[in-house]
Amino acid sequence: MKTEIFQINDLSTENLRSLEKAAQYIKDGETVVFPTETVYGLGADALDPEAVKKIFEAKGRPNDNPLIVHLNEEAEIEALVSDIPPKARILMEHFWPGPLTMVLNKSALVPDAVTAGLDTVAIRIPDHPVARAFIRMAGCPIAAPSANRSGRPSPTSAGHVLTDLDGLVSAMIISADTEIGLESTVIDMTVEPPMLLRPGDITVCALRDVLGQVIVAPNVTDNVCPEKVASPGMKYRHYSPQGDLIVVKGNKTEIIEKITKALKHSKKARMKIGVLATNETMNCYKEGITISLGSESDPKELAKNLYSRLRTFDDLGVEIIYAEDIPMNNETLALINRLYKAAGYHFI
Ligand code: AMP
Ligand code: MG
Repeated sequence: MKTEIFQINDLSTENLRSLEKAAQYIKDGETVVFPTETVYGLGADALDPEAVKKIFEAKGRPNDNPLIVHLNEEAEIEALVSDIPPKARILMEHFWPGPLTMVLNKSALVPDAVTAGLDTVAIRIPDHPVARAFIRMAGCPIAAPSANRSGRPSPTSAGHVLTDLDGLVSAMIISADTEIGLESTVIDMTVEPPMLLRPGDITVCALRDVLGQVIVAPNVTDNVCPEKVASPGMKYRHYSPQGDLIVVKGNKTEIIEKITKALKHSKKARMKIGVLATNETMNCYKEGITISLGSESDPKELAKNLYSRLRTFDDLGVEIIYAEDIPMNNETLALINRLYKAAGYHFI
């Protein structure tokens, strides 16, 4: 398949014309990659099961992993859900448009292909002008998972989507690198108290500030691969680079010592090795390819860079990546959740 590429950085008159063309693909039941503030999404008409099927095919995504439905305006939610609990309204008011996905009871209008047969549907309004204009022009809710091949790190730049999906989708809207760099926070609003299923840029504390009690699904913080998970998408090996990613635990001195020892060992074995460090530690390593995630004083920067750094190691053909563990707190929970998953919960 030939992928038509639209470069759209702002909503100039000329770009709006291109965006109309991209939206026409959605109207025709085809797939289109588009930018959001979290990561790039791979979209199709959420109300057309045949179009939704094409998303799963392009990604190589297991059918039992449901998709997030993206809207342009709050009013569009009414037709898609059977009820909106008062607490969901509070979240909409505070965090939409933005990187927050709510799981709600679905209406009959939402096809099983989107929800993987669940009675619930995940919905959000992205905070990205191009994404919003695109959804408005398409004239339908857009189902969109991250625009990567299944299992790979989510795409945060044009290069990533081209690498993964060129030739597998009808069109791509290419724009600047994504602002946040990790997927949205997912919260289940069908249970009381609400349950956080996936951490993201909207933190647990931010949610508790407006809702009071919020439970965190056990697998979000567990250090072991969960057998049984609340959100179907959480069970797969995810976000992973091609090399073996290993998270190195301990205090700072221990981490540096462990990695230094591992580097010596791997060098002897003639392995191509990498270290995922921070600005503060990157000069501590004398062997291997050391890449910084950013400054440890800036968790948002670390989060924004994670997936692109993992892909850089792939581009360099690195076989083993040692990643320094990151202290867990409200600000780093999402980043750590993705890092551990990418590592398949492999720790030393
Ligand atoms: P992605 O779009 O690749 O970020 O994946 C969407 C995420 O939302 C996955 O982790 C899904 O399991 C989760 N999700 C989507 N729909 C539901 C739902 N109805 N209930 C629980 N989790 C959901
Ligand atoms: Mg994904």
